[in-house]
Amino acid sequence: MHLEGKVCVITGAARGIGYEIAKVFAENGALMALVDLSFDDDFNFPYGEFRQYEADISDHDKVKELIKAITVDFKRIDCLINNAGITKDSLIMRMKEKDFDSVIAVNLKGVFNMCKHAMRPLTKSDDPSIINISSVVGLMGNPGQCNYSASKAGVIGLTRSLAKEMAGKNVRVNAVAPGYIKTPMTDKLSQNQQEAISQTIPLKRLGNPDDVANVCLFLASTAAGYVTGQVLAVDGGMTMY
Ligand code: NAD
Repeated sequence: MHLEGKVCVITGAARGIGYEIAKVFAENGALMALVDLSFDDDFNFPYGEFRQYEADISDHDKVKELIKAITVDFKRIDCLINNAGITKDSLIMRMKEKDFDSVIAVNLKGVFNMCKHAMRPLTKSDDPSIINISSVVGLMGNPGQCNYSASKAGVIGLTRSLAKEMAGKNVRVNAVAPGYIKTPMTDKLSQNQQEAISQTIPLKRLGNPDDVANVCLFLASTAAGYVTGQVLAVDGGMTMY
């Protein structure tokens, strides 16, 4: 499952799951275009060849410029991983309109922006693929996350439609639906909440970012050459029937 010489673009790469995916991909030979809103001054990525790009994926025109810059720097794109995402949780009666809109703008429209502008370079690759990071709450729902779960369910619809649209050009499009993964996003939960959640998970633990990264590695590799339009849950069994 190596990615030798493949140019992979990943959003939300400055930390959390995105950083881990970038690390695992680089360790397996990929050349990484790391995209995030911003990178800390002490950002360190000692795993292989990479470039950093600061961009807001919810901004359609900026994403067009971003993809242009990446294709100038790397000459092509083989894989796009749409990982960047935000939460603005509250019960719907208290949810502010701007908190609904901003979550949809980043988590769903951001994926549209990236897919749309990266599609032309992707179609020139020998083995093009897109991996969209959704969430189990896009499958199951979750109280306090109407905005987030709608955005993540939207990502699944987009993934399946795009997979059908692009299959004729051999572009594989899949989604990964993580359960609870230990990152700065879930650090917002108290220790008690994390322990209570662990008890509800069949494998009795929160996931680690590399649990997600290894599944993405498979989906980006030629080992998954006959896999498209799928949603792979990486959730310790949370969504099994
Ligand atoms: P995180 O908050 O640790 O990291 C997200 C990264 O995305 C940050 O570096 C942030 O700066 C970047 N980002 C946010 N808005 C952006 C924008 N407009 N443009 C560019 N970059 C932007 O989150 P994480 O836990 O690593 O989650 C990564 C992805 O996995 C997200 O899509 C999230 O919804 C999804 N997910 C996470 C979990 C979990 O338990 N952590 C579970 C299911 C799904």
